[in-house]
This record gives sequence, C-alpha cells and structure tokens, in this order.
Amino acid sequence: MTSDLTAIRRTVSRWKKGSEGPVLIGGPVTSEPERALEKTKADIAVVGEAELTLNELLELGLSKSDSPSENDLKNVQGIAYRGEAGIVFTGLRPVMARSIYDSLVPSTEIITDYPLYRSARVYVEVLRGCSNYHRTTLSLQHTCSGCDLCQEGSLEERYYCPDGIPPGCGYCSVPSLYGPPRSRFVNRVVNEVRGLLDKGVRRLVLSAPGFLDYGRDLLVEPQPLTDPRHPEPNYGAIEGLLSELNKLDAIAEGKASLMIENIKGNLVTERAAKVLGRYLKGTPVNIGFETGSAEHSLRLGRSSTPRENLTAIRRLRHAGMKPYAYFIHGLPGQTSVTVSETVKTIDTSVEAGASRIILYRFQSLPMSAFQNEPGAPPASRDPLSKGIQDAARRANRRLKENLLGTEIDVVIAEPYDRDRRFHVAYPMLHGPVVLVEGVEVSAGDVFRVVVEELVSDRIVKGRPVDAMF
Ligand code: SF4
Repeated sequence: MTSDLTAIRRTVSRWKKGSEGPVLIGGPVTSEPERALEKTKADIAVVGEAELTLNELLELGLSKSDSPSENDLKNVQGIAYRGEAGIVFTGLRPVMARSIYDSLVPSTEIITDYPLYRSARVYVEVLRGCSNYHRTTLSLQHTCSGCDLCQEGSLEERYYCPDGIPPGCGYCSVPSLYGPPRSRFVNRVVNEVRGLLDKGVRRLVLSAPGFLDYGRDLLVEPQPLTDPRHPEPNYGAIEGLLSELNKLDAIAEGKASLMIENIKGNLVTERAAKVLGRYLKGTPVNIGFETGSAEHSLRLGRSSTPRENLTAIRRLRHAGMKPYAYFIHGLPGQTSVTVSETVKTIDTSVEAGASRIILYRFQSLPMSAFQNEPGAPPASRDPLSKGIQDAARRANRRLKENLLGTEIDVVIAEPYDRDRRFHVAYPMLHGPVVLVEGVEVSAGDVFRVVVEELVSDRIVKGRPVDAMF
C-alpha cells in the first residue's frame, strides 16, 4: 500500500543484504512508479494488474538471481525500471478482459509460508475493479464543466471524462488502476477457498472493492460496469457463490469463518441484506460514509449518500450482520458544516446498528483525483478533524463497553509478547483482539471465551469457557 513505503524500503534493504537478485515491488504503491523506485531502492516496479506482466518478465528470464536485459524490459508494458539513463516507465497496461482475469489461478500452496496463516484473515479475490465512475468536483487540478456524463451517461460514456478527471471517489485510485469490476466464476473461488481450508486456514475474507458488485458486470456485459447504482445487485450470482462456499465442510461445521469486506450502501436493498444475512450472520461488513454531509458526499464523487448508508446499516443489522461505518477526516472540502454533519452521522450510525466506527486520515493517493492535494495533518493538529476523531472515539468506547460479559469464538494466533501468560487470539467472526490467559493452546485452536476486561481501544481479555474444536 502507498502508506507502506517506509516498511518496503526497510524490507528491500534487508533483502539486498542476503541476495544479489532483483527486487520487484507492486500494489497501489507503484502507481507513482518513479517515486516508489527512488524511495524503496527496488529494481522493478510493476504497475496496476501484475499477473500478465510477471508472466512476461519470467519468460524473458527473470529469476531469483537475474533480471531481463534493459533491451527486453523496455518492451514490457506496465513496469518501471532503472535504466542506464535513469528510471524508465513503460506505460500502463490496459486492464485485463474478464475471461483472462478469470483464467488465472492463484496459488493456495504459498499460504503456509506466512507464519500466522492459521489465525490470520486470508483474502480471496472475488472481483477486481470498482463500478463507481462518478467524478469529484473538488479536485483543484481539474475543473468539471458539468456535462453530467459520469452521472447520467451510458455505461461507455461514463468511462472517459471530457475534463480528464480520474473516475471514482476523489481520494481513491481503484477505478484508475484496476478499471470497472470483473467477477470470477463461482467454481474458481470455491476451488481456491477449498485449497486454503485444506491447508488449515480458518478465517477467509471474500475480497472486493464492493462485494455487491459481484456478478453485476455479467448483467451488462460486454459493456463496462461503470454505473455504481444500476442495475441492482445480481442476487442469483451472489447467492450462488455464498451457498456453494457454505457447503464446504469446514465452513458448514463452523470450523472456519467466511467474511466479506466493503459494500456500497446504495446497493444494500432489502433483498441484498437478506441474502447476505442468510450466509454471513454475525460477520462484519464495511460501509464507507467518509463524510456525513450529503452535499460533500456528492462532491467527493461517492456513489451513495449518507442517508442511504444509514438505511444500509439498519438493514444489515436487521439481517444479523455487524456493520462497521467508515469515515475519513481532513478530506478536501471539509468545513465546520461537514464536520458537524459527520459528527451527527457517527452517532446516528451507532443508533442504526453500526458495531464499530473506523476513522482514517485523508492521504492523497497517486492516480486519484486528489493526487496533488496535500495530505491531512493528524487530527490532534486540526480542530475540525479533532471533532470527528472525538466523536468516533466516544462511539467506540460505548460500543466496547457493551461487549463485557459476552461470549465470542476466537482462534489462537501466538503467545502475547508483552506478557507470556497470555495468548493473542482473533475473533472468528467479529470483535476486538482477545488476550486469553492460562490455557494449553497452539496456533489455530478455536475457543469460546467470555469477555472479562477491556484492556484498550482494540484489546480485551477473555476467559475460555469451551474448546470448540
Ligand atoms: S472508495 Fe470505493 S466506491 Fe469509491 S472509487 Fe474507491 S473503490 Fe470505488
């Protein structure tokens, strides 16, 4: 991630002490490839979708010890590398067609190389890209001439903005980097999940910038899904995927859990909430508000209004899920009015059933419409942002207190390094990190614990009441 530049630099420097071979980096951090290479001292940056680029590099002789020649590298689309005359960027590779994307089979073997894979959340991609092709009108760099194509145009017309404003929410680079959604077929996802369960993975997250976009692309194919609101979710595709996954033994028997990440509030119809609740009861789901002001939301280029998000939270809660509400402080366009509306919306979202408030600080991302805006200062240095932070903290404290005395199922991760009497455990479904005392356990064991003490904002202590498996 872009925020991981320093961690990447440290990793590259350690790596280079033990290896002569080339270092490749990828992910959103490389959407500003020259900077990423300069700061991290890596040799090659892979920009955007990486799979085809990596295949090409391997065919050209990339190996643990060797890099392809500069002559070869300059013909590979989607990379930046250190050439004789400085850093060279070969330009973006077009996003993959769905059929190609869906034919790629991720490894399920490699997971055991990660030390905590039995207790970690393991992400399985079910779709790539985002359907929000609205544009922000808050970018300092671009002026919106008001043609309204991104709100009212056909799916093809929404793709390009005549004023050159990057698509999507102003602070986000997902549509620019990964294009509109392309979904994977059910059997591909099921095979991957089965492979991971066989290796001992316990907590699986179906990853997507918007899970309710799953299969919506199929409803408009061959046109690109560039409308975040129409058509409605593809209920059949979503139900087909979730029901097949729920038939897998470990999931059916409760030995492993299945979760989703983000959904767009405007797509949470009554029917969508019911389908999700049927298969994902008790699991968290993220709803991005980012601001509590309807006008600010529209100007940011968001697909849903705060009111729609509140309705989504009520519906999801009613369906038995644990919605988390996301906000960002320090966004372009933040004023005392947007802050007071955001503070109100934080409280209302808790009343509506939000299980947790997550607050981020605005950071400008390369390839987003706000890429040239300055990042926000910490909330402690900005009275307006501080107002939002205080509201989020108050709300989370109230929610955490409700946890005392409740029982949750957790999976043991590792001994707690600050106090060896305890083990760190993660909730199977939803909740904070739990410190479990005095049990003979090993990584991957699942316990039911009762929450006895709040340690901090993120940690509680729990007493085992039952070994589950
Ligand atoms: S924040 Fe979400 S909805 Fe907005 S553009 Fe990014 S991925 Fe799409």
